[in-house]
Amino acid sequence: MIQLANVSKVVTSGSEQLTILHSLDLSISRGQFVSVIGPSGSGKSTLLGLIAGLDAPTSGSVSLDGHNITKMSEDELAELRGRLVGFIFQSFHLIPSLTAYENILVPMEIMGASKADERAQTLLDEVGLHDRGHHYPSQLSGGEQQRVAIARAFANEPEILLADEPTGNLDTKNGEHVFDLLLNLNRVYGTTLLLVTHDHHLADKADRKISLSAGRIAEDRLVGDGAMGRWGDRATERQRERETEGELQTSPVAPSPRRPVAPTLPVSGRESL
Ligand code: ADP
Ligand code: MG
Repeated sequence: MIQLANVSKVVTSGSEQLTILHSLDLSISRGQFVSVIGPSGSGKSTLLGLIAGLDAPTSGSVSLDGHNITKMSEDELAELRGRLVGFIFQSFHLIPSLTAYENILVPMEIMGASKADERAQTLLDEVGLHDRGHHYPSQLSGGEQQRVAIARAFANEPEILLADEPTGNLDTKNGEHVFDLLLNLNRVYGTTLLLVTHDHHLADKADRKISLSAGRIAEDRLVGDGAMGRWGDRATERQRERETEGELQTSPVAPSPRRPVAPTLPVSGRESL
């Protein structure tokens, strides 16, 4: 579903050429939860920006859902992005002059979604901010603002969520809360999730962990439930079945078995903030 082929990014800085990403090949299956770690300056944000089509690669191609976005016009790209991709930033990027509710409403209005107001309220409920919809970002804590940003990013139910250090400005408790919301979106809705984080403890809870180092993939492996098989014994059983059918994929791009669909996101406790 996300496919990068021979993607590089080179920028000119003064008279020098700086290679930020070195011919990267990467394939991420639908529904996979991938964490991306790596030291500051290793190219994590650049990678996410390229996948979101916010930035263009110097060479190579980026495909989302089979569409090569490097070949698209700005208009086509904007349309695809609006439909397919949600982005969450470290510093929330909420619109300060709009309330929490309005911030969530905006992307749905842009896409012409029906029953947008009802859904905005449902999303507020689901991130545990039921009665905070009328508050402006400045009246909310960092953790609350990030939860609004998650609800906004998920408003149009994108297939892909890209989160660039969403817990970076939060304390451990709020960071875990935000992480759990993202994990739930992945598990409940099957949203493909790319999460940049410095926190190895959180990164290890993904299905797959990619380590970037100086613009290259230094390590790429299955972790957590991805390595164990999400359904414990049942996954092992399914894996054996597939093995005997000769179609076992052991590469990190193998899709993880999905969890059964739960009715809604668990409403997180407001008391935690
Ligand atoms: P990370 O998110 O891992 O900290 P980034 O992707 O933001 O890393 O940046 C990778 C490297 O590329 C850094 O050294 C950064 O300074 C540099 N960089 C990113 N964008 C530009 C640009 N437009 N011009 C020059 N250097 C850039
Ligand atoms: Mg970054």
